[in-house]
Amino acid sequence: MDTTKLIKGLHHVTATVNDAQEDYDFYTKVLGLRLVKKTVNFDNNQVYHFYYGTEMGTPGTIMTTFPYKGQDVRIGTLGTGQVAITGFSIPISALDFWKDRLQASNIEFGQVEIMGNPTLRFQDPAGLFLELVANDDDDRAPWTGTAIPPAMAIRGFYNVTLSIAEVGSTFEFLEQEFGFTKVTKEGMVTRYQVEGGGPGRLVDIRDDHELDRGKNGIGTVHHVAWRVESDEALHALRARLVDELGLKVTEIKDRKYFHSIYFRIPGGVLFEVATIPPGFSVDESLDELGNELKLPDWEEANRTQIESVLPKIN
Ligand code: ZN
Repeated sequence: MDTTKLIKGLHHVTATVNDAQEDYDFYTKVLGLRLVKKTVNFDNNQVYHFYYGTEMGTPGTIMTTFPYKGQDVRIGTLGTGQVAITGFSIPISALDFWKDRLQASNIEFGQVEIMGNPTLRFQDPAGLFLELVANDDDDRAPWTGTAIPPAMAIRGFYNVTLSIAEVGSTFEFLEQEFGFTKVTKEGMVTRYQVEGGGPGRLVDIRDDHELDRGKNGIGTVHHVAWRVESDEALHALRARLVDELGLKVTEIKDRKYFHSIYFRIPGGVLFEVATIPPGFSVDESLDELGNELKLPDWEEANRTQIESVLPKIN
């Protein structure tokens, strides 16, 4: 199997955030995403794991958060070896709508032009840097179950921007192992695309050689996940990374809604590779996604205790 053709685009972005209610309100009520799954951190059942996306939680649209407030987790520091900015895709005709909406929600924003796209940049309540990238290249369907008119709504991710201290080894990894190709360079930022390109298939590498290394914690992205189509592809890619490149890669994890591996790329960013199947309707119907607290099987015995610790959200 040619392992350089297996990555099909972004799967999800996972961040460490602060307050659960604040996070839920921001991503569902301000940005208008759907809560497609309410579960716990599979490695720490005292903390929620929220997945936000479009209707089905299609890979490439999923922002996920761990609201760690009250768990003695430090405030993170932005720096190299991290995802610095997460970009969402909106139609160009929606730009004024979003300026008004951010303003009405008391969110400070700036407008910049990045590689030809008008872009709104702001922070979420935990301090994560987000962008709304206006473009007319996105035919993905938005979530329509919110007050936001479908013509204005977020389509999913546009891109992620990685902050990298030594860009050379990251370029080499993306080109040689993931089969990404260079699109363009603007200032200190070099854009790469997965085959086919377009929204959800772009990664920007920012040369930040004068910045210190970032520290993981509240207000930072924990990892970015890329999608593959099958377990077979995941196995093949893992074998390549471990057996031929000697990278340190986790065992294949069963995350219930996908299977995945984690490893650090040479530039220091934590990558995950996740399967598209089985998806979020594996334990709830499409209509009911996100309504109930869903637990992995091994946590069901602890449900009462878990529910008594997690903050209530509404
Ligand atoms: Zn993940």
